[in-house]
Amino acid sequence: MPMPPYPVCCYRPDCGRLAVYKIAARWSDGVTHELKTYALSCAECLADWLVRSRDKQAACRLALGETLEPPGVYEILRGQRDQQLTRRPDLEGIADAP
Ligand SMILES: [Zn+2]
Repeated sequence: MPMPPYPVCCYRPDCGRLAVYKIAARWSDGVTHELKTYALSCAECLADWLVRSRDKQAACRLALGETLEPPGVYEILRGQRDQQLTRRPDLEGIADAP
């Protein structure tokens, strides 16, 4: 799914800032692959969304043959397609602090 060509806001309803990151996980059923989006987030809410996305994924049951990678952080650039998103593994540790 391509990102819409207009600015998107952080998914937190009371936030109002522009989303700069997408939290998504690569999903596959062995035939097709797609990026499952959990949230769009501004920099401030990123850790929070990452924790929630991991919780959400932990509750997700997979059918036989399906694989789902842990949620990752991707940079959002307007009008960019999922395949072109830049992953930011350096930011994925921010939710790991105790
Ligand atoms: Zn936010």
